[in-house]
Amino acid sequence: MSEEKHGESYMIVFFFIISISVLLGVVLIWVGLQGASSGSLNSMIQFLLGITTIAVAAKMMSDLMETKKKEKEHKYDIVTVLQCRSCGTKMERPTRDGEYVGMVAGEKCQKCGANSMIIRFIYCKTPLEQSVD
Ligand SMILES: [Zn+2]
Repeated sequence: MSEEKHGESYMIVFFFIISISVLLGVVLIWVGLQGASSGSLNSMIQFLLGITTIAVAAKMMSDLMETKKKEKEHKYDIVTVLQCRSCGTKMERPTRDGEYVGMVAGEKCQKCGANSMIIRFIYCKTPLEQSVD
């Protein structure tokens, strides 16, 4: 939870920097255009600098979106595989805190109703379409 909050504040700072850059770019373009009639080299440079600033901000923005997307992709589900000691039925569900292999789980078997489900495996589920690069 606290990690997620930390990530959010970092995002806000980034968005702030990007907004400032865009604003600066717009101001530079505007100033450049104002002076364009006089045909000075200075206003030309200001205009180009403004465009560059906005382009850099746009690039930062797309990079940020990409990072955010990747962060989401790299969140794996940890699942627990339970097996009934009476009938051997296996079932899978998200792992809960404090679980370990060999532990007797609290739930009943869905097939025979016996109260003897034990944890066989705990593993990290990586969806096939989400390849790690
Ligand atoms: Zn069973």
